[in-house]
Amino acid sequence: METRVWKMPGDKPNLAMLREAAQLLREGEIIGFPTETVYGLGANALDEDAVKKIYKAKGRPDDNPLIVHICKLEHVKELVKEITPTALKLMENFWPGPLTLVLPKSELVPGVITAGLDTVAIRIPAHPVALKLIELAQVPVAGPSANISGKPSPTTAEHVWQDLKGKIAGIVDGGKAGIGVESTVLDVTGKVPIILRPGGTTREQLMEVIGEVSLDASLHDLLAVPRSPGMKYTHYSPEAEVIILKGTSHEQAGKIYKILNENKVPRIGFMISQELAAVLPKNLSENIVLGILGRQGDIEAITANLFDALRWFDQKNVSVIYAESFPEINIGAALMNRLLKAAGGKTL
Ligand code: AMP
Ligand code: MG
Repeated sequence: METRVWKMPGDKPNLAMLREAAQLLREGEIIGFPTETVYGLGANALDEDAVKKIYKAKGRPDDNPLIVHICKLEHVKELVKEITPTALKLMENFWPGPLTLVLPKSELVPGVITAGLDTVAIRIPAHPVALKLIELAQVPVAGPSANISGKPSPTTAEHVWQDLKGKIAGIVDGGKAGIGVESTVLDVTGKVPIILRPGGTTREQLMEVIGEVSLDASLHDLLAVPRSPGMKYTHYSPEAEVIILKGTSHEQAGKIYKILNENKVPRIGFMISQELAAVLPKNLSENIVLGILGRQGDIEAITANLFDALRWFDQKNVSVIYAESFPEINIGAALMNRLLKAAGGKTL
């Protein structure tokens, strides 16, 4: 299949181009599109055959439900059984934005979206191109990340092209995704909302608005079965092995020095901050590849660069990536969740 690319001039919505993409969505095709979190792979959420194409193109296990994207608050009514006062408060405070709410689904939502669950995950993205595309499509848009399942999520149209060219009808290129990790998935079906997946909306922000917010047990206990089916799968993994460095910044630097002295593997990558890079020896041997994520104090930039860096290391043919760890506060919780998954839990 030919994959078209619509490059938005200045990364702003271009109506003529988005009309073409929206028309293809309406005809049952699947399209890559930018959001503020990562790039999504969109299909008409009410068209079962179109949704099945998403699972096929990504190689996604069919028990991993999809998030439904809408462009206006009023559209949520058709998709859910009821909106509790807490859910409404969250929508009013955080939409459009990187918060996905899990709610009891209505009859309208096909089971193929929810993997047979009686709940549906919904959000309004905060990217003007995504919003315009959904508005023009005039349907809710199912959209997981636009990557091959298991690979690092895409933060640019180029990443989507690498993974899905020839398998999807088109890609809307709206520039780099600003946040760089997926939305927070919050289950609001019970008394106390539960974070099923940390993401772009932080637990701290949620607590400021609604008070108590708990964490799904699987986020701190590797043996617990996640309430969110997708969380049990391997994710975000580059070809190289990823190992997370633990300890204070000092201790992590010490570990890097030790690895440099041993220098056993053919090509070694270090995915680190500017600060950590600054304390390393200046003349590193040729088999050492440094990928700098940003300044330690700018955890947003570090998070935004994570998935791109993981893909970049693969192009550098390193066999192992040692990754700096960061404090799990604010967006750092989502960053470390993705890193830990990319590493398959391996730490040093
Ligand atoms: P992705 O589309 O790759 O960003 O992943 C979507 C995430 O939302 C996965 O972890 C899913 O398991 C989760 N999710 C989607 N729908 C539901 C639902 N109804 N209940 C719980 N988790 C869900
Ligand atoms: Mg994904």
